[in-house]
Amino acid sequence: MSGLSVFTPFITSVVREFDAYVPGRSVAEIKEAYGLDRVIKLASNENPLGTSPLVQKVIREQAAQAFRYPQAGNPRLVKAIGELHKISPRRVVTTNGSDEIIDLLFRVCAEPGVHNAVAFSPCFGLYTTQSRFAGVELRQAPLRPNFSFDFETLLRLVDEKTTLVIITSPDNPSGYAVKKEVLADFAGQLPPHCLLVVDEAYVDFAREEDGGEKAFSVFSELDAHPNIAVLRTFSKSRGLAGLRLGYAVLPEELAEYVWRVRLPFSVNLLAEEAGLAALADTDFRGRTLKVVAEGRRQLEEGMRAQGWDVVPSQANFIMVSHPRVSDAAKVNEGLLHRGFIVRPLGSYGLPGRLRISVGTEEENTLLLEAIGDVMANLLN
Ligand SMILES: *Cc1c(COP(=O)(O)O)cnc(C)c1O
Repeated sequence: MSGLSVFTPFITSVVREFDAYVPGRSVAEIKEAYGLDRVIKLASNENPLGTSPLVQKVIREQAAQAFRYPQAGNPRLVKAIGELHKISPRRVVTTNGSDEIIDLLFRVCAEPGVHNAVAFSPCFGLYTTQSRFAGVELRQAPLRPNFSFDFETLLRLVDEKTTLVIITSPDNPSGYAVKKEVLADFAGQLPPHCLLVVDEAYVDFAREEDGGEKAFSVFSELDAHPNIAVLRTFSKSRGLAGLRLGYAVLPEELAEYVWRVRLPFSVNLLAEEAGLAALADTDFRGRTLKVVAEGRRQLEEGMRAQGWDVVPSQANFIMVSHPRVSDAAKVNEGLLHRGFIVRPLGSYGLPGRLRISVGTEEENTLLLEAIGDVMANLLN
C-alpha cells in the first residue's frame, strides 16, 4: 500500500500486524471465475432452506420503516429472547451477529496486557482476531487428535488473571460437542470471577438420538453456575446470516456493562423485526432441523461409502478427510470447477480436511456425485 507512509507510523502496532479477514468465496465470484451457470454453496453453514417465508413477508412489510432508527436496546426482541429461554431479559444482550458480542466480551471483561482468555486450538477465527485487537492474550490448549475436548489441559492454562474461557459446543469445524453436565462441571472448577462462555451457534442441530438441544445446551445450568454465559446466533438454524443478528445471555451485572458500550444501533431495525418473526416461525425452524438431520445422515453415509473419514457431527456441517488425500485444497479446486463451494480447512491448520455444510437432499446428492468424480480424477 504505497502512498500511506504519512499515516502508517501512527497506526497502532497491533493493527499494523493485522491481516485482512479472508471471507469464503461467494456464488457470484465462482460463477464468474469458472464460467458456471449453477453454483452450490455448502461452505458457510447457512440454512439449507434459505430465508423463512414469514421473515421475508415481515421484511417487505417493514421496508418503509427503514428511515427510522431502531429502538435503542431492542426491548421487544430482548423480551422475546427472555421468554424463549425462560430467563430474565436483563441478562440478554442483542448484537450485530455473534461476532459483535465476541468482540465486546474481550473489551469489557479483560484489561489489555493484564488479563488473559483461554480457548482450544484450533478455534473459531473471531476469538483469535478480536482478542488480539483488544490486546488480550489468548492462551490455547490443543484439541485431542480426535477433536474431543481436553479440559485438564485447558484448566492448566487458567490462572488468577484469566477472565474468559471460550468453548464452542458443538465445535466448529469438527461438529464435536459435550453434554451440558460436562460444561457445568468445568464451570465449577473455574475461579468464580472467570466467565465460561459457551458458543452455542450450532446447538439446536444436536442429534435427537443423543438427547438433542436439551442434553447439550447449558441454559438449564445457568442458575447453578453464575459464571456461565451463552452465545446464540440467528445466522444458522434461523436463517438470517445476511441480516447479522446474535445475542448473549450473561450474568445480569455483566450484561448491564456490555449495554453501556454496545453501539446504540448495532442491531438494525429490519434485523430486529426479522428476528422477532424468526422466533415466531417455529414451523420453519422445525423443518430446518429435520432437513439438516436427514442431510447430515445422507452426507455422512455417502462420504463414508466413498472411503472418507467423517468426524461424527452434532452440527449442520461435517468435517471429512481421506486416507489418500494430504492436501484437501486439490479436492476443493476440483469441486470449484464443478460448481461446488465447500470449506478447505488449511486456515484452521488442517490442510488435509474439508468442512461441508449440510444442504438440501438434492444439493447433497449432487455434491456426493461431484466428489466421486473429483476423486476418480485425482487418484487415477
Ligand atoms: C457461525 C458461527 C457463529 C455465528 O456468527 P454470526 O456473527 O452470528 O453470524 C458464532 N460462532 C461460531 C463458532 C460460528 O461458527
